[in-house]
Amino acid sequence: MISVDLRGRRALVAGVADDVGFGFAIARALADAGAAVCLACWPPALGIFETLLRRGKLDASRRLSDGRELQFERIYPLDAAYDSMDDVPADVRDNRRYSGRGDFTISGLAQRMKEEFVPPQLDILVHCLANGPEVHKPLLETSRQGYLAAVSVSSYSLVSMVRNFAPLMPRGGSVLSLTYLAAERVIPGYGGGMSSAKAAMEADTRYLAFQAGRKYGLRINTISAGPVATRAASVTGVINEIVDYYAANAPLPEQLTTNEVASVAAFLASPLASAVTGTTLYVDKGFHAMGKALGDSKDHL
Ligand code: NAD
Repeated sequence: MISVDLRGRRALVAGVADDVGFGFAIARALADAGAAVCLACWPPALGIFETLLRRGKLDASRRLSDGRELQFERIYPLDAAYDSMDDVPADVRDNRRYSGRGDFTISGLAQRMKEEFVPPQLDILVHCLANGPEVHKPLLETSRQGYLAAVSVSSYSLVSMVRNFAPLMPRGGSVLSLTYLAAERVIPGYGGGMSSAKAAMEADTRYLAFQAGRKYGLRINTISAGPVATRAASVTGVINEIVDYYAANAPLPEQLTTNEVASVAAFLASPLASAVTGTTLYVDKGFHAMGKALGDSKDHL
């Protein structure tokens, strides 16, 4: 019988701060398949997430398919805008949501995992974070600073994470990120350079797959997910319209769930996908295949 079996493996899911986003669903699916799961959470959101966990607000979402409760081996602070503490401006370092959290940069997190676990420290790395401070602005109106911030946090962070975490991972390890169709088609409302960040991420997935494949034997893939009204997506102000549009026009005319994306993530992380790398895999009810909205052609399937 073929099944996704991740027992004995450790995953790090970066970009979880509630139980609504893709990150939480992916963490749960990986745990369901037997992996030990660590999280990395953006310091400004970490306190709230810890409170939600402590107060039991996430208990229902933590139920695994066999009745076990999803446990997190570690919950680390991570601000993916920074590669090392030398990059962190004083006002961030001294901010009350950051201070006392230790080294919350990408290299700092890799170092912590290197010290806290025996090799290979990490089998599965999931990059599930994005931030575009001007995402509500059209690209044409986006400032240089806003554009570069979107690309820095949302895509360069993947390059940095692969560089920093690859030495902790065994051959056959899997790196996964999340992208969106706006990388290759125009999605009105998806602004601030986030479309450029996703295009970069898809190109980087191919280059990283080649280079980290040759050097470390890792697989690097990205899932192009359909729309879900998560916290990050809601900032665009158009997510509900996009969700409805997909549900009306996709080959499978129904709303996508985060669990449907998460089960593909678990497959990609598993040895079943040992030959899959450098790929952008659509998990979007087939919407990417369409070239025209249905409109009046509903009767002309
Ligand atoms: P989300 O809000 O649940 O996740 C985004 C996470 O990024 C949050 O936990 C946030 O705290 C974290 N984050 C923001 N800035 C950070 C930083 N500097 N350092 C570390 N973490 C930071 O939303 P989501 O939609 O689940 O997003 C997860 C991924 O899925 C993103 O890459 C997003 O672009 C992608 N995606 C989302 C959709 C959608 O419709 N929701 C569709 C396709 C792809």
